Amino acid sequence: MIKKLGGVLVLTLCLIVPTITQAEPEQDPYKQQMDLFKSMETLTQIPWYYLAAINQYEKHIHKTHASDDLISITFPSPLWNGAQSIEDRPLTVSEIEVLGGIGKDGDGDDVADRTNDYDILYTMADWIKQYGTSKQDIKIAIWNYYQRDLSVQTIMNTAKVYEKFNTIDLQNRMFPVPLYHNYSYKNTWGDARGFGGRRIHEGTDIFANYGVPVRATSYGVVEMKGWNRYGGWRIGVRDINNIYHYFAHLNGFEKGVKVGQVVKPGDVIGYVGATGYGPPGTSGKFPPHLHYGMYRDNGYSEWSFDPYPYLKKWEKETRKLKK
Ligand SMILES: [Zn+2]
Repeated sequence: MIKKLGGVLVLTLCLIVPTITQAEPEQDPYKQQMDLFKSMETLTQIPWYYLAAINQYEKHIHKTHASDDLISITFPSPLWNGAQSIEDRPLTVSEIEVLGGIGKDGDGDDVADRTNDYDILYTMADWIKQYGTSKQDIKIAIWNYYQRDLSVQTIMNTAKVYEKFNTIDLQNRMFPVPLYHNYSYKNTWGDARGFGGRRIHEGTDIFANYGVPVRATSYGVVEMKGWNRYGGWRIGVRDINNIYHYFAHLNGFEKGVKVGQVVKPGDVIGYVGATGYGPPGTSGKFPPHLHYGMYRDNGYSEWSFDPYPYLKKWEKETRKLKK
């Protein structure tokens, strides 16, 4: 079985590798990654966007990666080589089989190298494939690999975004309120809050009139929508960099916006209001504004960070778009 697959691999990769190595040295890394994901899809029937989403997720949860090239998926050595392995050189496929590791050979040299992009991606695709190739099978495989609901949700949502736009090059951003409306904001990160006990301000307040449209700032998926005692009517979007964007105190939501929906920068998701600080429907306890928060996830826990410098940057980028 392994030998048979190896033959297929060598053949397939002979066709793929030359197109990559002949290219310009300054070739677009997004395109190079796409080529890799698509070639693995051909080989394993695991749709490229799941592999791309897993890669994207792993890019942000590790400080260092096994490969310093295109692929960020990093298998722990005991998992790849087998728990008993004490080798510090890359092992052959048969050595790894004896040791009980999951490392596979993706580029046909019979060595399963934990730092080789082809070997890494093929190992992940092959590991997933044991569960099947349908969306549900892949979801179960991802759950079994990461064993964490938020990780599964993030990867499945990122895959949805990649599939919809048919690209991984989705780095555009947009300011959350249209620039032609009156608005103002300053850096209030960490200020003390009066309501709800001792809390600090985890976000930036953008003051604007009731009803000013609130826009998605990045490519992502609506992860949460509803009422919260502090945030009032609020909506949360997780972007493809595994950052959660929190929009609070809304007057209301854009019609039809629902949890699980894919958004792009500039999509209207709600309207500025002054809701919150009480039971559902409470409004007007403070001037209308958009509370904008950002939260990062490292695969174990989530924490907030200051959105102000990002808002400044996106405001500039949005202004350029108008010209
Ligand atoms: Zn606020």
